[in-house]
Amino acid sequence: MNDNTQSYDVVVIGAGPGGYVAAIRCAQLGMKTACVESWLGEDGNPALGGTCLNVGCIPSKALLDSSHHYEHLKLHAGDHGISVSNIAVDVATMVARKRKIVSGLTQGIAGLFRKHKIDWLKGHGMLAGNNAVTVTATDGAQQTVSARNIIIATGSVPARIPQAPVDQNVICDSTGALSFDHVPARLGVIGAGVIGLELGSVWRRLGAQVTVLEAMDSFLAAADEKIAAESKKILSKQGLEIRLGAKVTGTQMTGTGVLVSFEQNGQAQQMEFDKLVVAVGRRPNTEGLGAVEAGLAVDQRGFIEVDASCRTNLPNIYAVGDVVHGPMLAHKASEEGVAVAEIIAGQQPVIDHALIPWVIYTWPEIAWVGKTEQALKQDGVNYRVGTFPFMASGRARAMGESEGLVKILADATTDAILGVHILGPSASELVSEAATAMAFGASSEDISRICHAHPTLAEAVHEAALGVDGRTIHI
Ligand code: FAD
Ligand code: AMP
Repeated sequence: MNDNTQSYDVVVIGAGPGGYVAAIRCAQLGMKTACVESWLGEDGNPALGGTCLNVGCIPSKALLDSSHHYEHLKLHAGDHGISVSNIAVDVATMVARKRKIVSGLTQGIAGLFRKHKIDWLKGHGMLAGNNAVTVTATDGAQQTVSARNIIIATGSVPARIPQAPVDQNVICDSTGALSFDHVPARLGVIGAGVIGLELGSVWRRLGAQVTVLEAMDSFLAAADEKIAAESKKILSKQGLEIRLGAKVTGTQMTGTGVLVSFEQNGQAQQMEFDKLVVAVGRRPNTEGLGAVEAGLAVDQRGFIEVDASCRTNLPNIYAVGDVVHGPMLAHKASEEGVAVAEIIAGQQPVIDHALIPWVIYTWPEIAWVGKTEQALKQDGVNYRVGTFPFMASGRARAMGESEGLVKILADATTDAILGVHILGPSASELVSEAATAMAFGASSEDISRICHAHPTLAEAVHEAALGVDGRTIHI
């Protein structure tokens, strides 16, 4: 390495919620930090924020909120005595609003980098050995920087299946499905996971006839079975056609769309759609990183192997977020990013992977933290259950949002809360109380003895906690 080589305490590769948060925390802790990022935004300019800000959490929530407003006006304004006429969707405006939100937030991260004096190295980063990273810009220019520590936060990309090759026109991945220029009349979605259900909901609300084809026989296997069954009922009632045990075997372009072949109940079937979204999961991204050449241990599925402190097998190289094991969630990536920065600074942070909340932003929302009832049964744990339906919540009834329930699972002996499962309005916000309580080792009695404001949706959490001991007041 020549004398002109820039040297840093930390070089982070990737500026998604894992990488940019790690970089900010490193800078806060006084380390000279650079972050390498190759993303080009929809306007062709370099952008920070990764999948989450550009084509993930934020744009999907922008469209979910817009489509929720539309459907709410169309179906429920009348219930409130409000008459609205000429309700129409302008997809171009809706998508432009989403783009503006994305660019505002990604520029905000650039502002945070400036504030914290983090060098944004624009280009593709590659491990170059001897604690060095080579950065290749879009024009091919290369620079090599040296780093006392490297944090890999290269994230994930949509998984592909050979049966449905993505052309981002008729067959799209999640990125394509966030930028349709019109509402397709017939939309097929492969995969009833989080992304498939959220994007399927967006376009169904806007008027598409949506069919979700899911290879597995069970629905939302990671969720609590009761919540999964209830949410399937509600989503189906809304008009989302969910076909379980439907394995896609092939696709064929037609003049007007795509003919999808699938097997269901041992029978070969076909359906034609105007557009098809492939939402079969995501895979870790180590493309062009030079992982193998650097001797980095990567498992069979492509995840970088790390220990509980996100250390890789190579000294002073860490990896966080979607590129390592664990749930592919933005807040999990950020927690790991912060923890690694603090470890490098000599602190001893602890990440409790058992307390990472999950959210699916359908409406009603689905959120949970901790163990499901089926997992407790499988582990032979003795537990008690408290449930409370939003139908019995005054606030939910006043809002006209009375579908769903809160379910709390607590240890039968110690009463420690083991899992909280919520299907209901703003479940994404309510789950935070559960995560906080569990992080403090709370019992269900602890929640039941805390005064909750009235009337609020959070009272349903309070009532479910009371229910663990058979003391619910309103049912
Ligand atoms: P990423 O966000 O993927 O960022 C990785 C970054 O690294 C990218 O910007 C990439 O350009 C860059 N990079 C990769 N390799 C290199 C290299 N060699 N050199 C330079 N740069 C490189 N999660 C939630 O928690 N809540 C949600 O509501 C949610 N909704 C989602 C909706 C959709 C449609 C999708 C697709 C995902 C959603 N997720 C959600 C998942 C979430 O986006 C990811 O878990 C999160 O972005 C992972 O963060 P990360 O930092 O590990 O990686
Ligand atoms: P997730 O990993 O949560 O995003 O969910 C992706 C879903 O896609 C999983 O539930 C898979 O079972 C489903 N899936 C994967 N391949 C196929 C296929 N060929 N046909 C139908 N569903 C599929």
